[in-house]
Amino acid sequence: MIIILFGPPGCGKGTQASFIAKENSYAHLSTGDMLREAVKSKTETGLKAAKIMEEGKLVSDEIVISIIKDRIEKKDCEHGFILDGFPRTIAQAKELDNMLSNNNITVDLVINFSVNDEVLLNRIEGRFSCSGCGTGFNDETKMPREDGICDVCKGNNFIRRKDDNRETASKRLEAYNKETLPLLPYYKDKEVLFSIDGLSNIENVTKEIMSLIQK
Ligand code: AMP
Repeated sequence: MIIILFGPPGCGKGTQASFIAKENSYAHLSTGDMLREAVKSKTETGLKAAKIMEEGKLVSDEIVISIIKDRIEKKDCEHGFILDGFPRTIAQAKELDNMLSNNNITVDLVINFSVNDEVLLNRIEGRFSCSGCGTGFNDETKMPREDGICDVCKGNNFIRRKDDNRETASKRLEAYNKETLPLLPYYKDKEVLFSIDGLSNIENVTKEIMSLIQK
């Protein structure tokens, strides 16, 4: 099964993608994570993407498409995968369809997280994650159960993304509204688009997604 989690930065799609992927043994493909990894390792792609990401703009279609193309060929994608943060432009969506059609498959489900901008900015500012295992937390919505200790790996070192500040987040939202929102009619026409309330609590959102997958 091929699922796209669709929504603006901070809507909770990353948290849900990692949970749903584990539950269903799907691969979790986050272009944001892959790009951050490339930046950290100072690869050619990382060097090209770093400044653009810090400015809250979109990295070129060419770069993200080539990252995804290589990634979906990997064995762990055979059983299905969840796309988190891709596609973000019509050109990316069309190219994804081309890649999949080579294997006679199509996108099964696009889940749109419906949210409002002010809540998003607060959520983004509150985000942090465990540097050891990557588990995400939030000052507002999901603090570690034990103060300063990761729920999953028990690590005690937490990090915040460079682009999770109000100014860059506003720019990321602008890019989303301008370049990514036009994808909704694209998927609506294909009759694979479903919307959920992204402001509901984490467990409810997970339940809604699971029931859409099982339909
Ligand atoms: P994310 O973690 O999904 O919020 O992505 C962080 C940043 O990576 C974005 O603000 C973009 O600069 C870049 N990025 C991630 N995915 C894409 C994509 N599909 N197309 C273009 N840029 C992307």
